[in-house]
Amino acid sequence: MKRFYKDFDQFRVRQIFELLEDAGIPCTIKNEFIQGASGEIPHHEALPEVWLIDAQWETKATKLLREFESDLQSHDAPASDWACRCCHEVNEPQFRICWKCEAPRPI
Ligand SMILES: [Zn+2]
Repeated sequence: MKRFYKDFDQFRVRQIFELLEDAGIPCTIKNEFIQGASGEIPHHEALPEVWLIDAQWETKATKLLREFESDLQSHDAPASDWACRCCHEVNEPQFRICWKCEAPRPI
């Protein structure tokens, strides 16, 4: 057994776990439901964790994790409003098409 990933965010830990599972990597989650359940456990030990059943999977798992994280960053990337080329409407950064005329966002 080898600890692979640990985060305060239980949801993120589960995403990583599912990512590995989908790739056929044997793994398990520890501490998923411990957080907040008991005041006796020191916080840093109660973080949810993903463990690899066998350390031989680590290279593949790390590669998947990197891909996953760079994917997240590319979704988070746009930070400023953009103006539509067709109708000149200003759109918020999270939109990939103009909300008014549905023209694609200029690159
Ligand atoms: Zn438009």
